Amino acid sequence: EKGKPLMLSPRTNKGMAFSLQERQILGIHGLLPPKVETQEIQALRFQKNLKKLNDPLEKYIYLMGIQERNEKLFYRVLMEDIEELMPIVYTPTVGLACTQYGHIFRRPKGLFISILDRGHIRSILDNWPETNVAVIVVTDGERILGLGDLGVYGMGIPVGKLCLYTACAGIRPEKCLPVVIDVGTDNKTLLKDPFYMGLYQKRDRSQAYDDLIDEFMEAVVDKYGQDTLIQFEDFGNHNAFRFLRKYREKFCTFNDDIQGTASVALAGLLAAQRAVGKPITEHRVLFLGAGEAALGIANLIVMAMMEKGMTQAEARKKIWMYDKDGLLVKGRLQEMDPNQEVFIHDSPGNVQSFLDAVNTIKPTAIIGVAGAGPLFTHDVIKVMGTLNERPIIFALSNPTNKAECTAEEAYTLTDGRCLFASGSPFGPVTLSDGRVLTPGQGNNAYIFPGVGLAVILSGVRHISDTVFLEAAKTLAEQLTDKELEEGRLYPPLSNIREVSIQMAVKVVEYLYAKGMAFHYPEPLDKNAFVRATIWNTDYESFLPDTYDWPDVSFTPK
Ligand code: NAP
Ligand code: MN
Repeated sequence: EKGKPLMLSPRTNKGMAFSLQERQILGIHGLLPPKVETQEIQALRFQKNLKKLNDPLEKYIYLMGIQERNEKLFYRVLMEDIEELMPIVYTPTVGLACTQYGHIFRRPKGLFISILDRGHIRSILDNWPETNVAVIVVTDGERILGLGDLGVYGMGIPVGKLCLYTACAGIRPEKCLPVVIDVGTDNKTLLKDPFYMGLYQKRDRSQAYDDLIDEFMEAVVDKYGQDTLIQFEDFGNHNAFRFLRKYREKFCTFNDDIQGTASVALAGLLAAQRAVGKPITEHRVLFLGAGEAALGIANLIVMAMMEKGMTQAEARKKIWMYDKDGLLVKGRLQEMDPNQEVFIHDSPGNVQSFLDAVNTIKPTAIIGVAGAGPLFTHDVIKVMGTLNERPIIFALSNPTNKAECTAEEAYTLTDGRCLFASGSPFGPVTLSDGRVLTPGQGNNAYIFPGVGLAVILSGVRHISDTVFLEAAKTLAEQLTDKELEEGRLYPPLSNIREVSIQMAVKVVEYLYAKGMAFHYPEPLDKNAFVRATIWNTDYESFLPDTYDWPDVSFTPK
C-alpha cells in the first residue's frame, strides 16, 4: 500500500508533482508518467481546458472533478481566477448545478442527515473523517438561492460556500463541513424525479423537525466544541428567523441570508453614500420584498443610522417595504408577519403598484430582494432618476434571471447617474457617451469568509449583529475613490482574498476591544495573528525528515 492512499486522497494527491524520490520511497514509482511536474504547469493545463468549455454547468462539473482528485490544485486554479470562477462554484451556476444535482452527480461531498436519523446524529458526525472541523454550513434545502425548494439537491450550496471560505479567507479545507438536513421536499417535480436523492416525502414541519435541528446543534458542539461556527443557509423564511432567534445566543451561529446579506448590502449603501454625498441618516429606503434579506438589511441599516445619532423609531420610519401583496401599511388586509412589524407604517396614500410606491415615498434607494424577476420596470428606474441626482438601485435577487433589473437598464435609464449593485454578476456597461461603468456585485462572499475567519480565530461564543455592522464598514472603507468613480460599490472580486483578510483583522480587533473574543492570550499583533493562519496551496513534501549525525562513536570509552 504505502503511498497509494496519498495518491488517491484529494487532500494529499499531487499528481505528477510527486518527486522522483517521493515516488520511490512511497512505492508509487511507475504509477505516474515519468515527468515530474510543477503545480504551475498543472494549473495551466486545467485553466486551458476550462477555457475550452463554453457551458457553465460543464465548467462546474470539470472544476468539481479537480476538487475530487487534487484539492490544492483546485484551490490554486480557483484563486488564480476567482473573478471568473466564483460565478461557477457559487451563484449563479451553483444554482443550476443544484437543480441538476441528481443528474450530474459524481461523488458525494458533505454530510447528509435525514429525519429518519433522529437520535443518531452524533454517530453520523463520527463517520465524518475529519476531527478538527471549525466551520459548518448547513441547509435544509427549502429556499435555495431564489430557486425554491430543492431538497437534498441543495448540497451544492454548502459545498460552494465552504469553497469560498477556503479560497477567500484561507481557512483550511479540512476544517470545513457542508451539511444537508433532509426532512423531505415539497417540490413536486423532485418527488417524481427518478434521479432525486433524498427522502421521497413532503417536508416534515412537525415538532420532529425542530427536535432534529436541536439534536444537530448539540451533536456539533459535543463533537467539535462550543466555538464551532455554524452558518445557516437557504432555510425557508419562517424557519430562518425562528432558528436565528432560538440559537443566536446559545451557539456560535449566524444566518447568511439574513445577516450576511444585510452586511454586504449595507456596505454597498455606505459606499454609495460616499458618492451621493448625503449621510446615511438622510436616506429613505424602499424594499421590494419583505423576507429574510429585506428584514436583515433593514435592521442593519437601522443600526447604522442609530450609530449616527438617530433614535431607533426615527430610523425605522426611513424604511418601507413592498411585498407580494403591496406596501406594508397599518390595517392592510393581507397577513404580515411579526418580524415585519417595526417596518409597517401608516398608509402614505393610495398605492396600487411598486411604481406608485416609488412615486409616493420618493426613496433615495430601492433594494430588490423579492426573488421574483424583473420588477424594477423602466418606469420605476426612470422615476428614481427623476427623484434623485444619484439614485441607488440594488437588484439583489439571484440567480441572474431573478434580478429586478439589469445593470444596463439601470445605467442607461438614469444616464449613468445611478449607483447600482446586483446579487449575481453583470459585466461592465458602456454608455452612449462612451463612459464605461462597472456594476457592484453585492456578493455575500465579501462578508462571510472574513467574518467567519475572525470568529473562529477569536473563539467567539456567539455572534452579535454589531459584528456585521463592523464588517460592512470595513468593506466600504476598502473601496478606493477611483473604484467608486468607475461605478463600483465593492472592491474588485479579484482582490477578495486580501479584502477578506483585512476584514478579518479589523473584526478580530473589534471582538477583542468589545470583550467578545475568548482566544487567550490575546495576540498583540492581530494582523500577524490572522495572516499566520492562512492556508496556501503549496504541495507538502512526503519525504521523511532524514539527516546525518556528526561523527559519534558508540564504542564504550
Ligand atoms: P424570502 O425570505 O422568501 O423573501 C421574499 C420576499 O419577497 C417576501 O417578502 C415575498 O413576499 C416577496 N415577494 C415575492 N414575490 C413578490 C412579488 N412578485 N412582488 C413583491 N414581493 C414579492 O427570500 P429572501 O431570503 O429574502 O431572498 C429573496 C431574494 O434575494 C432571492 O432571490 C435571493 O437570491 C436574493 N438574495 C440575494 C443576496 C445577495 O445578493 N447578496 C443575498 C440574499 C438573498 P410574500 O412574503 O408576500 O410572499
Ligand atoms: Mn443563501
